[in-house]
Amino acid sequence: MNERKVIRNAMIYDGYGNPARPGDLVLEGGFIAETVYDGHADVSGATDVYDAQGRAAAPGFIDAHAHSDATLLAAPEAFGKVSQGITTEINGNCGHSLFPVTKANRDYAEDSCRACGVKLNWDSLKGYQAALEARDPALRTYFFCGHNTLCAAYPNDIEAQAAALEAMIRDGAPGLSTGLLYAPGRDEPEEHLLKLADVLKKTGGMYVTHLRSEGRRLEEALEEAIRYAKAGAGRLHISHLKTAGKANRGKLGHVLEMIHEAQRQGMQVSADRYPYVRSQTSLSVILPGEYDSMRDVEIQQKLAGDEAECRRLVEALREDSERVSNTLLTATTLEDYKEFCGIQLGTIAEKRGTTPEAEAIEILKRDAARAMGAFAGMSGDNLKRILEEPYVCCGTDENARPADDSLGAGHPRGFGSMPLFLNMVAEECGMSEAVRRVTSLPAEIFGLKGCGGLRKGNYADITIFDEKELGSKADFLHPHLPATGILRVYRGGRVRYEA
Ligand SMILES: [Zn+2]
Repeated sequence: MNERKVIRNAMIYDGYGNPARPGDLVLEGGFIAETVYDGHADVSGATDVYDAQGRAAAPGFIDAHAHSDATLLAAPEAFGKVSQGITTEINGNCGHSLFPVTKANRDYAEDSCRACGVKLNWDSLKGYQAALEARDPALRTYFFCGHNTLCAAYPNDIEAQAAALEAMIRDGAPGLSTGLLYAPGRDEPEEHLLKLADVLKKTGGMYVTHLRSEGRRLEEALEEAIRYAKAGAGRLHISHLKTAGKANRGKLGHVLEMIHEAQRQGMQVSADRYPYVRSQTSLSVILPGEYDSMRDVEIQQKLAGDEAECRRLVEALREDSERVSNTLLTATTLEDYKEFCGIQLGTIAEKRGTTPEAEAIEILKRDAARAMGAFAGMSGDNLKRILEEPYVCCGTDENARPADDSLGAGHPRGFGSMPLFLNMVAEECGMSEAVRRVTSLPAEIFGLKGCGGLRKGNYADITIFDEKELGSKADFLHPHLPATGILRVYRGGRVRYEA
């Protein structure tokens, strides 16, 4: 199909950091056929002519860190992603991919699919990709091989893990992702990780990692990551770079120095970040350390039957009263607390004449299994400083979701990351640089061919946006509101979103 489409009167950001220039774009058969900067493109024979009226046209945005592995099969229209201008996603992150699947990890893989109403009928990257393509997803996708999945598929068999990783990379995975904070990967000995690094060295694959610690042992975790990447192909990408917890905020300067030093030594080191300082997870993580290993359902059962323990916990939480008070309740099934969703525990306590600690425990003993919170553990100043680094691209850290909450409600970053990231970077470095960070930069980092730049022969992945309107109204209470200012999104020449 050689369909011809034209975008007229656009301010073209080419994605390579050059200043925007007025021009037309000609799309043919899903690819960019021509960029016309002087005069106008010939519209004869075009099946679609879009007048951008002087608004911006950029390469489709690339989400450098997504978790859509299962949801994209359930909601291939990926509304949360395309509505913020995203056309390409990198998945298989934090050590978790939906392949390889063996007898040893089939139950677990099936469970994570079933949660989205998806039936698992593959065992390899190729099989998974075929299942996804059959759903005609709105996004172009790439999948890392997840270390935790690999360990679960071939327990205690490093030779088999290495062979499977090599096969997946030969089949198109850009490399290995680890999530060394999580089991079973966190318990693997160093020599096993070095063995997998050998595979990366041999294949040129990238090492992408959710660091073992993002807080107390952040520097040690980064050092470890640099060591593995160095033993591999010298390509390191750090997922959601941050300093977690107030006590660790001062570490950023040294962390950036360590990255710069590795770059000076010739390594390719990059990172991604979402433009938010709150993380959203089970409200139960507010509890003291001894509850870390318990499942939320168990926590609820324990607290419901133990008044003395509840009183002890209220006392224990007083140790960091500011943190408890600042935590937002974002979801609960309790009817009498529904009106407080999106509100800080401190404010809820004021309204109910209690204390934030008592509110936290009251909610947990009745609804720990479902209650969610948003925690202000990251620093706004550090976020700004991280975004100033030229090798930092945007990763939503979210899965593709439909407009409704049939797959659950997500973090607002699943709908608003790109516009907020662009605005924050543009404020410091200009819009051309901001666009580069979400287009050609991630394409270069991950070695993606044919995307990230508006030039002849590349995929016709194009996002039309209004710079003045660019923004997000999504918040923890209304996380699924579409971004503002994103007007039209093409993927492979096909319109996948229109405001
Ligand atoms: Zn992660």
